Amino acid sequence: MSERLPLFVDVVRYAETGRRLTGELPLSGMTRLLPLLHDASGGAWLDLQFGKDEMKVAVVRGEIRAQVRLQCQRCLQPFDYPMRVKCALGVVTSEAEADKLPADYEPLLVTSQNMPLAAIVEDELLLALPAAPLHKEGECPVPVQSADTQAAKISPFAVLSQLKTKRSKAR
Ligand SMILES: [Zn+2]
Repeated sequence: MSERLPLFVDVVRYAETGRRLTGELPLSGMTRLLPLLHDASGGAWLDLQFGKDEMKVAVVRGEIRAQVRLQCQRCLQPFDYPMRVKCALGVVTSEAEADKLPADYEPLLVTSQNMPLAAIVEDELLLALPAAPLHKEGECPVPVQSADTQAAKISPFAVLSQLKTKRSKAR
C-alpha cells in the first residue's frame, strides 16, 4: 500500500498513534546525499512503522530501499548501487536521552513537531553508503592490482589515459 507521503512528520505523535508510512521519495531533494552520488537519478522507497516498544520507548522501525548511482573510485565510472537499510530508531529529544537509549536502537533526535521526512531517510542512507564505492569484483574495467597500488597517486585524467592505452592495446 502506497500513500502520499507527508513532507514533515510529528514523530512523537506518530509513535503514539502507531502510524505507518509507505511510499517513495525522490533523491533529488536530499542535498547532503547528492554530492556523494554520481547523479540524482533514482528514489528511496520506505516502509516505516512508528510505535512504542515493550519498554514504552518511542521507536521507528522498518526498511528503506534505494537505487543510487555511485562513482567507482577505481575507474571513475558510474554504477548502480542498490541499498537496503533496516531501520531501528529510538526517538529521543536530547543528547542525554540518547545516551540512555537501549543499544538496539540508533537515536533519532527529534527537536521539532515538524521533522522533514526526507532528512530522516537521508540520514539512514548516508550512514549506509560505502566510504569508498567500488564496482563489484569482475565488473570494474581497471584491474584491481594496478589500481590498489597506485590509486592514491593517480589523478582522474591519468586513469582515463591509462584506460585508453589499455583499450587501444587490446584491439
Ligand atoms: Zn570501477
